[in-house]
Amino acid sequence: MTFKVTVDLIQCQGYANCLIEGPALFDIDDDTNKAIVLGDEFDEALRSQAEGAKRGCPAQAIHIEDL
Ligand code: SF4
Repeated sequence: MTFKVTVDLIQCQGYANCLIEGPALFDIDDDTNKAIVLGDEFDEALRSQAEGAKRGCPAQAIHIEDL
């Protein structure tokens, strides 16, 4: 199974916790100071990073959807 990760850019406050928990999945846009998701679809091998980032996001801006 694969999954998709989205960030609600209205909720995202640029705390960057997601980069620490999910370095393969996220970056921060230097212009907007909001999170960027580094792909449209991810393999199960990255699930734990995605779940950790979701738990660690203080703004609860990260959403995971199974594909
Ligand atoms: S941890 Fe949450 S609020 Fe912070 S940059 Fe990532 S998505 Fe945005």
